[in-house]
Amino acid sequence: MRRSMRFAAACTAICLLLAGCGDKNKNTENKADTQQTTQTEAGDAFATADEDMLTTSDDETTTEDETHSIDYMALVNKLNPLPENWENELETVHCTNSLGDDVEVEKKAYDAYLELKAELEEEGIYVDLDSARRSVADQERIMADFTEQYGEDYAIKTVATPGFSEHHTGLALDLYLNVYGEDIYLNEDMVQYPEIWSAIHEKLAEHGFILRYPEGKEHITGYGYEPWHIRYIDDADAAEKIMSEGLTLEEYLGAVNSAELKEDLGTSKLFSEEELEEAAVQVKCKFATFEGCELHSLRYAGDEFTTKENLAIMKEFDNTTNYAEVVEFLTDFHTPKEGSQVFDPDTEMKDYRWWLGREKDGGWQIIIWEK
Ligand SMILES: [Zn+2]
Repeated sequence: MRRSMRFAAACTAICLLLAGCGDKNKNTENKADTQQTTQTEAGDAFATADEDMLTTSDDETTTEDETHSIDYMALVNKLNPLPENWENELETVHCTNSLGDDVEVEKKAYDAYLELKAELEEEGIYVDLDSARRSVADQERIMADFTEQYGEDYAIKTVATPGFSEHHTGLALDLYLNVYGEDIYLNEDMVQYPEIWSAIHEKLAEHGFILRYPEGKEHITGYGYEPWHIRYIDDADAAEKIMSEGLTLEEYLGAVNSAELKEDLGTSKLFSEEELEEAAVQVKCKFATFEGCELHSLRYAGDEFTTKENLAIMKEFDNTTNYAEVVEFLTDFHTPKEGSQVFDPDTEMKDYRWWLGREKDGGWQIIIWEK
């Protein structure tokens, strides 16, 4: 087994280079909710059915003379919760849609939406806002309702975890269509108009919007295709890049592979959770260079691996550094359909091994990984 591993001479340099993504990944994985496997955007399908979702409260809307700042690029998904203090910083407006529902939207996003809507109307395309902002409290209420009605298992699978829905931001808008004077707002009806959605998607970027859950990116976003769910990012150039290259926000922000990653640091008597997380981040950063591969699982191999014998083996691979400790991590991942120079195509790689070492008082470095 050991012979199937190789020493990576360039590894140290690569790991250092990639260290910048450490914090982001760390944050991502700390917040990981690996229980969530929902494939449709929770809450959306019920947006028009449940009026409670649009409950608003005047005292949540902030006053003009305060200064507010939100990060329009904020990543909120199944692994990344709404940033702290967001709801205090958020400035929103309310509008009433053609169905008579009150819809709350972040202020700037609403202005951009009105411009988009006007431009679409020039082409004979009519859209309206089904659902936009839902507060964390709204989502908690939805979760409670679903739990009561359908049981906890179903609720967890169907409703986005409160705090982890992009609709909390006020920047995510669910559109619906008006075709020949008729409102089309049920998901199953809306998907019958792919040409209209394409025409809408073409106009998004110039107004600072992106399509948030593109087709074929479920493994990254954690959500199935939703032509109606658009996201304001307040940056037409970034939006243009994302839309023209068919990226997800996760990919654009370099947080790819996080949405479906199952991470298990296990229990260790030798290392703290922070120490293991730090090592895991190194693996994830390195993995990010495995082009086209999708990381599914990342696991700490256990304290029993940290032996004098393994430390000695590692030192044989790299005798330039005086390593004091060694840990092993295991990963499962899928190789790209077209294959690569290193891997067979379209293959699920199981228990792929990584050895990391560190000097006394030093940080973890990947020393060996399986070929
Ligand atoms: Zn949505």
